[in-house]
Amino acid sequence: MGHTHKGHKITEDLWLLSTMKSSPDVLPASFLPVAIAAVRAAAIVTTRVQARLDEVRAITKDDASPVTVADLASQAAIATMLAEQDPSLVLVGEEDSSFLRQPVHASQLDATLEAARWVLPEITQAQLLDAIDLGNAEPRDEGFWTLDPIDGTKGFLRGQQYAIALAYIVRGRPVVAVMGCPNLSLDTAQLEAIPHGTGCLFIASEHEATRCEPIRGEHAPSVSARVHCNESDRPLVTTGSVEGAYSETDWSGRSFRALAEHGFVLGERLKMDSQAKYAAVARGQADAYLRLPSRPGYVEAIWDHAAGSLIAQQAGAIVTDIDGQELDFSTGERLTRNRGIVCAAPAIHAPLVEAIREQACSV
Ligand code: AMP
Ligand code: MG
Repeated sequence: MGHTHKGHKITEDLWLLSTMKSSPDVLPASFLPVAIAAVRAAAIVTTRVQARLDEVRAITKDDASPVTVADLASQAAIATMLAEQDPSLVLVGEEDSSFLRQPVHASQLDATLEAARWVLPEITQAQLLDAIDLGNAEPRDEGFWTLDPIDGTKGFLRGQQYAIALAYIVRGRPVVAVMGCPNLSLDTAQLEAIPHGTGCLFIASEHEATRCEPIRGEHAPSVSARVHCNESDRPLVTTGSVEGAYSETDWSGRSFRALAEHGFVLGERLKMDSQAKYAAVARGQADAYLRLPSRPGYVEAIWDHAAGSLIAQQAGAIVTDIDGQELDFSTGERLTRNRGIVCAAPAIHAPLVEAIREQACSV
């Protein structure tokens, strides 16, 4: 059957193509393999920098520089690879090149260029800087990528968990997510960071269940990630930030303890850096990830939650803010309509939101 479009009769295929083009929330299927390849390339860069922290510090003469070098080279690699596929790329990245453009930071620029060349051997200095700045785009309703090239910078410097988090957002919702966790073990029984293992790559899209595959080493088939269904007697495993308030007596701790009234037994508490916490819930290592607003005025950045929240959701978790509202990614670079994050297995989510509300009033 044909359709009439601007007076021309067009075939079914052409009709589909034209509707895809006029409907920007359709992300061409060919973009997902490119996003996966880009995150894998970035992981090669960050893993090598993490293995050579002292060497990079010596070159750049600055303690904090390894994370700058890895962050910027990771963003350059991902932006370059996405832009090769899609010249009209719209990317909202955490980083920009202003630091590297200052003459006083010439050693960091050299080190970043060297790191980027591990995966993009031909890239020039000018191309590197321009690629990083591709991440300066403004969010737009019809669709855009958002990237945290290294989420969990403190974890990165400590040799612990960090994530390379890339997501595509359409009309306020993440629809595709690719997240690399280079120090996370494929073995879900293993909770420690493993810097020389295979790492984990998580892939999720709006219409598919989350899958996980190794980042490094031999090719292995991906496995689907599922939240823990909590039908067993396992005490609840909770996860939260390494940094900041996350103790027995603070709001998070009290909220978890209040779950006892709903018949839950509290178990281990996993402290992890980065969006690897969402991955821990997605594959059943933890039952709930909580991030309560720890200081007034703190608003979460979209790149800290877009990929992780979709990965947890598509594995069966419920992700909202502490008021039980859906996360709204339509408000620019920050989640200004949301407070905090509650990511949990379905049976735990509602009681947890209730406990958080009660505990907020009973200080
Ligand atoms: P994470 O994403 O858990 O690796 O944390 C990264 C950084 O975010 C930490 O170093 C803290 O400074 C900050 N952070 C973590 N949790 C919160 C929170 N609930 N409120 C405000 N800042 C936070
Ligand atoms: Mg970052």
